Amino acid sequence: MAKNLKSYSLTSMKNIMVDFGFEPYRADQLFQWIWQKSTEDFSVMTNISKELRKLLSEKFIISGLKKEKETCARDDSKKFLLTLEDDNHIEAVFIPEAKRKTVCVSTQVGCPLGCTFCATSLIGFERNLKAYEIADQILLIQDNLKNKITNVVFMGMGEPLLNIREVEGAIEILCSPIGLGISQRHMTISTVGLIEGIEHLLHTPLKVKLAVSLNFSDEELRKEMMPVAKKNPLRELLKLAREYSLKKNMVTFEYVIIENVNDRIVDAQRLLKLLKGIRAKINVIPYNPHPLLPYRQPAREKIEKIYQYLLTSHHTITLRKSRGQDILAGCGQLAGNKFLT
Ligand code: SF4
Repeated sequence: MAKNLKSYSLTSMKNIMVDFGFEPYRADQLFQWIWQKSTEDFSVMTNISKELRKLLSEKFIISGLKKEKETCARDDSKKFLLTLEDDNHIEAVFIPEAKRKTVCVSTQVGCPLGCTFCATSLIGFERNLKAYEIADQILLIQDNLKNKITNVVFMGMGEPLLNIREVEGAIEILCSPIGLGISQRHMTISTVGLIEGIEHLLHTPLKVKLAVSLNFSDEELRKEMMPVAKKNPLRELLKLAREYSLKKNMVTFEYVIIENVNDRIVDAQRLLKLLKGIRAKINVIPYNPHPLLPYRQPAREKIEKIYQYLLTSHHTITLRKSRGQDILAGCGQLAGNKFLT
């Protein structure tokens, strides 16, 4: 059966060239056709000899994700339901802003971590995505919308640090000048706080930003709402985050506010105490409700009160404008094709 060339890294493509008796640099041309010029047709690759194109087309195909459905929200963000080669489904979201065009990508089909407030957890875990399946979400959206993507957030379905090798492979494709040419400084990996994964990131040359979905400043409540917290204690997590902020970039802490769960001033006070001494940005995210989950978004005044309180700290504080909520494209609302909207 013909293999999909999209699934090969640049290094593996170079090995193919050598096996075929061609110079390794031919792989750069091939990679550029696939990831920069977005073609799946060998016949248009005119700077590659006919002989090599023939050899390639006999052994390989070039095949990407398929768009199943595109839904547009009132605020112009767009949710894409995508089909993978094995007929699994994932979702990715396009978020347009004046100065940047961001895609929020999935890194797993479903998620095994079971955060109680997240719709992705409802579908369970199917499998990790391959590097090319992660990168291809951006290429497909860029081609479909004819809009150059400038920013990427690894924040869709799944926990990126559980699939870090493939996420690293995707970053290689995305930031390559013969790939999508997106700067690593415009990429953010968002994690629920996996200690082993953050330790790994600390020791790689990656320059991506780190966001930690902290959400609950009370450790017992955090364990209840995010079972993964049982094996990833706050103390150790915050120690690593501090190290990351010193060694790499300022860390963003996401604080999803849920009605009657973590929406009191005392919760915010505890949060500031935890983050003392860390170069941190706090992103306050009003909870995006899902019809199948029991949680609600607090009243506007309550959110504003917490936000104003946090502003009294020396941290950078942002209040995230919810995007795509009406099409269930917001943070924590992605659930593939299981509960179609
Ligand atoms: S919040 Fe993230 S880690 Fe938790 S269940 Fe949802 S996708 Fe998984």
